[in-house]
Amino acid sequence: GDILKKRKIAVLGSRSVGKSSLVIKFIDNNFVESYYPTIESTFSKSINHKGTEYECDIIDTAGQDEYSILNSKHAIGIHGFVLVYSVTSRKSFDMIQIVYDKIVNFCGMSSIPCVIVGSKNDLSQRQVTPDEGQGLAAENHAAWIETSAKNNVNVAKVFELCLGEIEKQSPSSKSE
Ligand code: GDP
Repeated sequence: GDILKKRKIAVLGSRSVGKSSLVIKFIDNNFVESYYPTIESTFSKSINHKGTEYECDIIDTAGQDEYSILNSKHAIGIHGFVLVYSVTSRKSFDMIQIVYDKIVNFCGMSSIPCVIVGSKNDLSQRQVTPDEGQGLAAENHAAWIETSAKNNVNVAKVFELCLGEIEKQSPSSKSE
């Protein structure tokens, strides 16, 4: 029908793993080399998934560490999660499970619609293998993908996968 389907997606992960770069590449097709920590921004974009248009709000968060308390804004009313680590940072990879568990505990669910993203896969100083990424995703019933915002590899795919995970989890309860 003509009813607009709205979905909210939050992008979380350690600082400087490339969350903003991924979101900005997706929204603007623009890559910025210079690094400055994001406060928090929300972007809107319409995404086609399996022939349906979804009006998506994408929340680019400032970043989390092991001591951060999950911001309720990043859990309440959020349909899907994009959890980003950098393939060049073991520490950022270890943060994924910590953030995942915080969300799951907050939401009181056993799993959440989620895509785990290994970013910066254009770089050769790798600390996390694709197998490790896939393994973590499998354990948490999440989708997984590696990306390069710099080379525009799999950037749009992240958000298509996220919509897929959202619709997989509860297709009927969110129809509208
Ligand atoms: P955020 O703090 O997670 O939002 O990270 P940013 O998006 O600000 O990126 C942190 C740094 O990593 C910046 O200097 C980016 O230019 C760089 N960066 C982000 N994505 C990529 C990528 O795909 N490849 C490479 N080589 N560098 C990236």
